[in-house]
Amino acid sequence: MRFYDLIIKKRDGQELTQKEINFMIKEYCEDKIPDYQMSTMLMAIYFKGMDISEIKYLTMAMVHSGKIIDLSSIPGIKVDKHSTGGVGDTTTLALAPMVAAAGVPVAKMSGRGLGHTGGTIDKLESIKGFKTELSLNRFINIVKKVGVSIISPTSDLAPADKKLYALRDVTGTIESIPLIVGSIMSKKIAAGADAILLDVTTGSGAFMKEYKDALNLGKIMVDIGLELGKETLAVVSNMDEPMGFAIGNSLEVKEAIEILKNRGPEDLRNLCLDLGTHMLKLGKVAKNYEEGRKKLEKVLKEGIAFSKFKEMITAQGGNPKIIDKPELLPHAKHCTKIKAVISGYIQKIDSRLVGESAMLLGAGREKKESEIDLSVGIILKKKVGSRVNTSEDLAEVYYNDSKKLKKAKNKLFSSFVIGNKKPKKLPLILATISKEGVKEFI
Ligand code: URA
Ligand code: CA
Repeated sequence: MRFYDLIIKKRDGQELTQKEINFMIKEYCEDKIPDYQMSTMLMAIYFKGMDISEIKYLTMAMVHSGKIIDLSSIPGIKVDKHSTGGVGDTTTLALAPMVAAAGVPVAKMSGRGLGHTGGTIDKLESIKGFKTELSLNRFINIVKKVGVSIISPTSDLAPADKKLYALRDVTGTIESIPLIVGSIMSKKIAAGADAILLDVTTGSGAFMKEYKDALNLGKIMVDIGLELGKETLAVVSNMDEPMGFAIGNSLEVKEAIEILKNRGPEDLRNLCLDLGTHMLKLGKVAKNYEEGRKKLEKVLKEGIAFSKFKEMITAQGGNPKIIDKPELLPHAKHCTKIKAVISGYIQKIDSRLVGESAMLLGAGREKKESEIDLSVGIILKKKVGSRVNTSEDLAEVYYNDSKKLKKAKNKLFSSFVIGNKKPKKLPLILATISKEGVKEFI
């Protein structure tokens, strides 16, 4: 088999066989296919697409480029969750302990932030001492004992994705549905859970700007998950404005703690309750939606989810005092505000611009190797639909380096659109996709 012939085949819009896809992934991982040929193949896939069986073969080939984690020694149905990324989206930090407190074991591998989106691992590292790189044994033992652990992916988790993602990043081939599905689903399947919940975000801060593209991505991921024998459910959620009020690592840890204290922003709380309820159903700890939601509301109200987070922090070497005293988290030296110059209703808060503003302050990385400042970020004082008067605060900006401030403030200011009419707000959950079919809420 020659890789050259496979490139021509895909270029001409033909289907690749399982053997050909296995060959491509194996040879590329062994450095036998050069990047210039693989780049061409990625671009051919970008333009010509792949059908469901090709996507399935690609996903499996990527899974088998590394090891499948064996979680079978942990009792119960293990449920994993993945989000396609957002701005200010602290969900995992609150959701994982909530679900664990309600009885579903959560063994989760999370990523770091890149560009305008944040990552759970960075957020957790704002907790002093917290270790995100643990041996597999330790990780599994913590899940057995505490019910929840969150770590960085091990190096043998779908290594083909690491290599391919880096190449896609510099060749304009990130936004390809077959490649996104292969990338996400290979990592989820290799991570070893029994069931998978996918949060497919859409709107200004998300990968999929358009709802119909997000819905399509969700449908294909659910198909692939089910085809590969995993119970899979996807939720399409609205990321048109940032999630909650806080954007930035330690600020978002504080916000997650608020949720676990049964307080916090309504949208983030509702997203956690909704995703959590689906996880309880997937984990067979709740028979139906109502029962699941009640269980989660109870673990929040009774402080059980809050204690679970504390236990997880302690088990992973972090300082558990931060949860009672969030002021112990890293905090920025300075704070300034941006204010409204006209009155009206907030029509829009462009989450991408807010994310980029936080990145300029140092909260995010422009490149994979960039260092980040865990203490800086933004607290929104208004959300879409809020009434605002002239000179009223729109947001607080927490910063250390005043050289970066002006650009960040300008970007943040430009993310707000104010108008006369109270805007119609879309629901937070736009659709759910499962083996029973698609339910749309708009
Ligand atoms: N997230 C991933 O992990 N991979 C993609 O390709 C896109 C989003
Ligand atoms: Ca937030």
